[in-house]
This record gives sequence, structure tokens and C-alpha cells, in this order.
Amino acid sequence: MGQGRNNAYGGAAPRLPGAVLVHLRNMNKVLEIDEANAYAVVEPGVRFFDLYEAIRAGGHQLMISVPDLGWGSVIGNTLDHGFGYTPYGDHTASQCGMEVVLGDGDVLRTGMGAMRGNGAWQTYKKGFGPSADGLFMQSNFGIVTKMGMWLLPTPECYMSCYASVPKESDLEALIDTLRPLVLDRTIPNYPIVGNVLGAASQTSPRKDWYNGDGPLPDSVLDDMTKKLNCGHWNMRFALYGREASLNPSASITAPASLSCRAARYRFAY
Ligand SMILES: Cc1cc2nc3c(=O)[nH]c(=O)nc-3n(C[C@H](O)[C@H](O)[C@H](O)COP(=O)(O)OP(=O)(O)OC[C@H]3O[C@@H](n4cnc5c(N)ncnc54)[C@H](O)[C@@H]3O)c2cc1C
Repeated sequence: MGQGRNNAYGGAAPRLPGAVLVHLRNMNKVLEIDEANAYAVVEPGVRFFDLYEAIRAGGHQLMISVPDLGWGSVIGNTLDHGFGYTPYGDHTASQCGMEVVLGDGDVLRTGMGAMRGNGAWQTYKKGFGPSADGLFMQSNFGIVTKMGMWLLPTPECYMSCYASVPKESDLEALIDTLRPLVLDRTIPNYPIVGNVLGAASQTSPRKDWYNGDGPLPDSVLDDMTKKLNCGHWNMRFALYGREASLNPSASITAPASLSCRAARYRFAY
């Protein structure tokens, strides 16, 4: 385990008797941060919090991609096919170069790491022949003791965007409108779509809305959208770039029911 802190979904305890637990929390060093090439090399106990703090402490102009859970380990999350929400949010795709201890004690370095001291280990994923990295994800073929992670150079500006639609049946229109923007990378990050029920469940119990049995009636869901001032489907995404290129009043061709709002932030560091 990296941190073994997937709290509420699961924990550090093995599911089967006779399992051996390898505790890696104390291997918690951020081994390298390379600002010019925008990557970090971490040990398995390094949490997203630790990596963030190391970047800030070093004054590096780099951003990490973090899942909702900052206390999980970067390596544990990545090996479990984790996702964050920046353009580097596909963590499996953003890892580059692993050191792995195999069952027989052999040490394997993936990609350019096969050649000792190769400076391209964390910048170029391929080596010669097949890529082995995927073998160590959601598997138990080895223990990853080091891993490179690509980081996003801090953009001049970040724009947080929110789009919502009023009716349940509008989901298709929402996706159809935004899909081309994701495919042509106008939206570079990994958007999230949630419904009003999810929004309500974060702040209130079911009994505050409805005391009957079975699924909530549509009239209750409509009431939620009004009281929570949101749509039936709500989508978060973000834009990154230069201040001049991120225009909050820019319009897209969208169905009349799609309501959008955005806020632009300039990085102060
Ligand atoms: C409230 C909440 C919100 C969440 N939101 C998100 C989200 O937005 N995005 C997302 O992707 N995830 C999300 N998760 C899942 C969470 O991010 C991950 O489970 C967590 O990051 C895993 O970190 P960990 O160190 O606890 O992993 P662990 O449980 O320690 O490890 C995960 C798996 O990888 C294996 N493993 C760990 N380290 C190694 C290693 N060095 N070598 C080989 N195998 C290893 C472990 O055996 C285990 O099977 C969420 C979880 C919660 C509870």
C-alpha cells in the first residue's frame, strides 16, 4: 500500500487471509522536481499534499493534478488508474518512468530507465521493445519504489467554468455541445458532470427533501434545482492559458437551455 487511505471505499486491511501487507508510507521522499522539464520523481508514500508542498517550498512554477483526495499517495492513485481534473488529469498517462521491485527481488526500470543515468527517463516513456509500465497497474506483479510524474507548467491564467441545463432530458444536448470542445482540446482538462441529486446529497440528508419511499419524484428534483440554484445536470471544466486568450464573455453556439458562467483567476506566484 502507498497510504492505504481510500477511506470509506476501502482501507489498508487485506481482503483475504494470508495476504502480506507491504507498508510504504515511510518511503515518503519527493526525490526530484525538474522545473525545466516539468516533472517530479516520487517514492510510494508521497501524498498529493506532500508533492504540492514540495513544489511550493521550492518555488517551482508547476501545478500538480490532484484527485478529490489529497491524502492518497501519488503512486497508489496512479497505479489504480486515478484521475484528477487538470489537463494532466489522466494520471496513468502522466506517469513516466518507474522503478519496480519484482517478486524475485530483481529491480526493473521501465522506459529509458533501463539505461542507468539516462536523463530522458522521466521525459520519454518508450524504451526499446514493449512497454512494461501497464503491467504494474491494477496488478500485483511488482512493487513500484519510484515513479516520475509529469506536471503542468503554471499557466498565467486559469478560468473555472460551469455549465448547467434545467431538465433531465437536456443531458444529451449538454454532452453534444461540449464533446467537440473536448475533442479539439478547446477544453483541455477532464470535465465532470453531476446531477442535482449529487449536489443536494453533499449538503443535506434525503429527509430534508422527501419522506416517501422509492426514488425521488421529479417534482422534488425540480424543487432542488430551484433551492440550490443549479441545473438538473451541472458540469465543471476549466481553461488554462494567457490572460488575453481567456475571455469570460466569449460565447459558444449552444442550445438556449444551456447556461454557462465562468470566473477567471490570475496566478499570483
Ligand atoms: C472521498 C474520496 C474521493 C476520491 N476522489 C477521487 C478522484 O477524484 N479521483 C481518483 O482517481 N480517485 C479518487 N478517490 C480514490 C483515491 O484517490 C485513491 O484511492 C487514493 O489516491 C489511493 O491512494 P492510497 O495511497 O490510499 O492508495 P493505496 O490504497 O495504498 O493503493 C492503491 C492500490 O495500489 C496498490 N499500490 C499502492 N502503492 C503501490 C506500489 N508502490 N507498488 C505497487 N502497488 C501499489 C495497492 O496495493 C492498492 O491496490 C477518492 C477516494 C475518496 C475516499
